[in-house]
Amino acid sequence: MAVPLISTITCPHCGHVQQETMPTNACQWFYDCKGCGAVLRPKPGDCCVYCSYGDVPCPPIQEARAEGRSGSCCGTS
Ligand SMILES: [Zn+2]
Repeated sequence: MAVPLISTITCPHCGHVQQETMPTNACQWFYDCKGCGAVLRPKPGDCCVYCSYGDVPCPPIQEARAEGRSGSCCGTS
């Protein structure tokens, strides 16, 4: 199954929208907004910035959801 690896992150501070390529084997905890320079962190309960601010969740989450699991991309569940 093809998993989209491009996620569009929307900054909650300035509204800047930026497409980013997600790593397939790691969580991204921090993201520097290209618009205002704010450092984005995952919301409580989310495992990475793509799950919180991206329009596409990170690949491990996509796979887990496709299998009917509510997984976490960090291996903690
Ligand atoms: Zn911003």
